[in-house]
Amino acid sequence: MALLDTFTIYFLTFLGTLVMFLMLIIFAKTTGFDDLMRYYIYGKLLQAIGAALSLFRGPVPVDISIILGNSFVFLGIALEIYCIVHVGKVPLKGTAQRWILVVAAIILGFTLLYLAGANMGLRVFVCAMILAIYSFAAAAGLFFRSDTTNLRKIMALFFTILAAYQVIRALDALPRGDSYTLFTASSLQTISFISIYVHMLVSTMAYLLMSREVIDIKLKEAATKDFLTGIYNRMQFLQLSEKLLSLMIRQQQPATIFMIDFDYFKVINDTYGHTVGDSVLAHFSRETQAAIRAEDLLGRYGGEEFIILAPNTTAEDALIIGQKLKSKIALSTANNATIPKYTVSIGTATMVPATLTDMDKLIKRADQALLQAKRNGRDQIVQADVAQR
Ligand code: GH3
Ligand code: MG
Ligand code: MG
Repeated sequence: MALLDTFTIYFLTFLGTLVMFLMLIIFAKTTGFDDLMRYYIYGKLLQAIGAALSLFRGPVPVDISIILGNSFVFLGIALEIYCIVHVGKVPLKGTAQRWILVVAAIILGFTLLYLAGANMGLRVFVCAMILAIYSFAAAAGLFFRSDTTNLRKIMALFFTILAAYQVIRALDALPRGDSYTLFTASSLQTISFISIYVHMLVSTMAYLLMSREVIDIKLKEAATKDFLTGIYNRMQFLQLSEKLLSLMIRQQQPATIFMIDFDYFKVINDTYGHTVGDSVLAHFSRETQAAIRAEDLLGRYGGEEFIILAPNTTAEDALIIGQKLKSKIALSTANNATIPKYTVSIGTATMVPATLTDMDKLIKRADQALLQAKRNGRDQIVQADVAQR
């Protein structure tokens, strides 16, 4: 004898869906109703209505219970999965239409199947396979995202297990034909119903956790990256560079600080406007990030002042790097109609272990060198004397 009867489990699923619906509204009230959150909440509501229609078959006419109940559940879960796989991003135009077409086909297909007199086993088979496809879609969508996270991968695993359960349920129901009844207690039936219950719990929790994670990722980005250029802001640069510098000191390796300031940036702003000025800063950041090595740190130090910490870099290396950067910018602005030609002045200071190992002093010396480059006429590199303390 099965421990739990399936009607009870299904009733709990219905109740749980309602509770989740309320939880989501409370969560969204504090974090904001973006489009996906709104769709997700509609999805839950549709599922709750669908579950109620199935539960109260009898008081609700059978045909309506089956056709409408299933349609609501199919649409509700589709909305839910759509939101789960797109959490944290804006879906491409046309994606939603494709989903709607697929769901419409699913609903139409199931309704026709029912009206054609398909037996109970076949209907359960089809419903369970649809749920399995939904769960596999969620798993694949989460796992193969380019920005997948550990949380997203764990959720993908959950959805895979749930999908596998539905496949087992489908294969069990098919051969039974009309002898299959929805609310009979068999071990497999109980397990399948529990899997529907768990699905309800896990997917909502997953969505809430992943929405929270998206907020955390955005907050972290905003706290550590510069909004305009996407490179590190001054605070994050200084934090990371302290660590990198002490590593260099421990390994007895040189490192160089580059202070970079645009030449006559006010003129660029005055001539082309502030917006073009902004794109010039973004252009410079992209070009520089592409020119330096992965282990070099690049940050926006101030308005149009940038800073680089290059580990394992002697003063001679630094000169080559600086010249390479300057010619890269000259070449790229010459070939770019949207970005006006610009030049930068660079001051460098190299840390040789046992001479100068203090970050503040290093930055100050690079700044003085930069000032000298400006005085010398701009568009050049000046290096602080490494022997000085
Ligand atoms: P110099 O060669 O002596 O450096 O001349 P400069 O005109 O570049 O002088 P300075 O470095 O003092 O110029 C800073 C200018 O950069 C003034 C400010 O309006 C502009 N600026 C700072 N931040 C931004 C920004 O985010 N966007 C834009 N468009 N302009 C900025
Ligand atoms: Mg300047
Ligand atoms: Mg400046």
